[in-house]
Amino acid sequence: MSLNAPALSATVKSPLDLIGKTPMVEVTKIDTGKCRLLLKLESQNPGGSIKDRIAVEMLDAAEKEGWLKEGGTIVEATAGNTGLALTLVGRARGYKVLLVIPDKMSKEKIQHLRAMGADVRLTRSDVPHGHPEYYTDMAERLSQAIPGAYYVNQFANHSNADAHVKTTGPEIWEQTGGDIDAFVAGIGSGGTITGVARYLKSVGSRAQIVLADPVGSTLAGIVNEGVPGPDGSYTVEGIGQNFVPDTADMSLIDKAYSIPDAEAIATARELLLKEGILAGSSSGTLIATALRWCREQTEAKTCVTFVCDTGAKYLSKVYNDAWLADQGLGERELHGDLSDLIN
Ligand code: PMP
Repeated sequence: MSLNAPALSATVKSPLDLIGKTPMVEVTKIDTGKCRLLLKLESQNPGGSIKDRIAVEMLDAAEKEGWLKEGGTIVEATAGNTGLALTLVGRARGYKVLLVIPDKMSKEKIQHLRAMGADVRLTRSDVPHGHPEYYTDMAERLSQAIPGAYYVNQFANHSNADAHVKTTGPEIWEQTGGDIDAFVAGIGSGGTITGVARYLKSVGSRAQIVLADPVGSTLAGIVNEGVPGPDGSYTVEGIGQNFVPDTADMSLIDKAYSIPDAEAIATARELLLKEGILAGSSSGTLIATALRWCREQTEAKTCVTFVCDTGAKYLSKVYNDAWLADQGLGERELHGDLSDLIN
């Protein structure tokens, strides 16, 4: 037997030393038109998502500036992944971690966070920015009430995009040898798209910066029409907003696509069936966008996007036929037999 994985890395003393330098894999079984579509597997970070990178950068800055001191409490509003990353890095450095999470997020993420030692407070998913129960408003209030608390605020924290300028951008440039025509990402905080776009522009890359936005998020409208699109709810977790976060530089984005939940989920499922890659829901939106961009091209091009986190966190949702049927996003397995699994 021979395995084709790239060279082994040296042993390390902490999982924190395994953050970043994630692998890239080409999509070869799904029709990508004339394009080479490359996925950077951020799901391979030890905390399971792209957010591990920003946790290190944001906590380093907070310690350096004296905002976070021994025995302090890290407070954050998160769709889950930033929380997992902050808990991984924060607990290793001896801090307490308190997280405010909208209640639509998957139970796998919430259970994972609690098992890692985070204090998780759930709040409403159906209220807008500025409402006292909106997750960021609630996190800010809690941080003011707790002595020694540091509110990370990934949505306005410049270390967020800096992490991607320093690590994700250079890695993409190196792994593609600078041969990149489009870079596709979503916006939760906007740190990823802003940081990577800044780096690519700084090295003179020709890459178009493409926003992957869920239908129901207002951001694609800002890019394509100059005005926010209609605000609505959607199932995809971690991307899409009804406001522009301070960390998102919309002027760097060339084009946006609005992807319905059904297309994002179908894409994530196709990726698993055809390519064997288990990706989360936001990755479904990103890859659906990348496929639309790729299929529009008339010449050979290279497009890069992410698997932001693993689908293992969404087995009860994206990969659960009964749940999808309840959401009107798929057909329920009527007879409950196992023929699908056997065939
Ligand atoms: N995907 C997932 C699963 C996320 O949790 C997030 C952030 N909440 C993103 C993508 C978006 O990344 P960013 O915050 O850098 O815009």
